[in-house]
Amino acid sequence: MTEKPQIDVTAWPHAAAAAKVLAALAAAGGEGRFVGGAVRDALVQRPVKDLDIATNLEPAAVMAALTNAGLRGVPTGIEHGTITAIADHVGFEVTTLRHDLETDGRHAKVAFTDDWQADAARRDLTMNALFCDSAGRVYDYFDGVADLLTGRVRFVGDPAQRMDEDYLRVLRFFRFHADYALGDFDAAAIAAATLRRQELKRLSGERLRQETLKLLLARNGVSVWGEMLRLGFAEAYLPQATTLDRLAKVAKLERELGEKPDAIRRLAALALTGSGPAIGETLKLSNAERARLDLMSAARPDFNVDDPHFIRRQIYDLGNERALDLLLIDWGLTQPESAWYRALDIIRRWPKPTFPLAGRDLLKLGMSAGPDLGARLAELEAWWIAGDFAADRAACLEKARAMTD
Ligand code: ATP
Ligand code: MG
Repeated sequence: MTEKPQIDVTAWPHAAAAAKVLAALAAAGGEGRFVGGAVRDALVQRPVKDLDIATNLEPAAVMAALTNAGLRGVPTGIEHGTITAIADHVGFEVTTLRHDLETDGRHAKVAFTDDWQADAARRDLTMNALFCDSAGRVYDYFDGVADLLTGRVRFVGDPAQRMDEDYLRVLRFFRFHADYALGDFDAAAIAAATLRRQELKRLSGERLRQETLKLLLARNGVSVWGEMLRLGFAEAYLPQATTLDRLAKVAKLERELGEKPDAIRRLAALALTGSGPAIGETLKLSNAERARLDLMSAARPDFNVDDPHFIRRQIYDLGNERALDLLLIDWGLTQPESAWYRALDIIRRWPKPTFPLAGRDLLKLGMSAGPDLGARLAELEAWWIAGDFAADRAACLEKARAMTD
């Protein structure tokens, strides 16, 4: 192995807690190393998210090691070798080194091993197959560091074989290319992927969801989705996600307006009118995600930025966040653009109001409980809305009195 860069693991979030877990494994005669995303991202100076730990101890020994060190272990995925170690109230996934016994493109049968290189070899991309120990020393069995630093998104081993072991890697290849590549697609990988586009349909919605949403948030997600459309990948598993120009618009707007990039909004931008339910089903989205996607992609009148009352009405009916979703999806459909900025300003500064009256107010005015009361309340609310939400509680009460007289 050539000289590798060192990582300052003490700078990571929850570094002290993670160090306790590594120390516990070492005290039991084993070793723990950080693996995957954290190591990769640290090497390219990107924010490190989850710290995942690999170990040469088997799960039962990991549990014992944690207990002996006064830490807690929760067997969250013990059948595939994962224990969640809790230190200082932070959870870390500790997974025993594994190698594949059998694969069928969707599931793998694995066995535990104490061979670090064997575990690295079953990971998908060279940049994802990196370990680093408690001192920040990097272990790189497949030239992942060089690939990462030069922007080469490359499989460990033969790409065709690696995709046949797990078809999700077809999609992961695009996702990581969109986030880390500096040049063209790896020729062998794109050729092998293209031959396997139809296999994506066979994967579970949950796995497709995770990779698709991450891809849409990736740095070059828009242009990579464009390539996937051109090459027939999008058509193979998500044929309704085709309006690339609108995705490009929404991604650019999020950046320019300082809005947090949002995967469901981006998915909605891509979606053909009325295709929300089909996409939600393919990707097994949560109910909340489906509701947002359906609202944004349903046939509806365009967002009328010239009418402040329409904008406030949207905020009242949908809430500020969903009104923003619709505004960004429709942004620029009419001229001038300044009208869209004015609408944005209303959505940002005018919080959804609460109707100032409730049933008990009408009871106090002498109305009796029952369906009439509900109808009267709805009438008052409609009056309040029609008055552009201007009436305060006192004015609403006065109107109520006038109506009940
Ligand atoms: P992110 O920051 O997006 O979470 P990550 O590298 O942590 O990136 P995960 O999908 O969380 O990505 O997976 C963690 C690690 O597990 C990867 O770095 C990779 O080594 C391995 N891995 C995950 N999925 C696969 C797969 N389908 N085939 C092979 N290895 C995989
Ligand atoms: Mg991860």
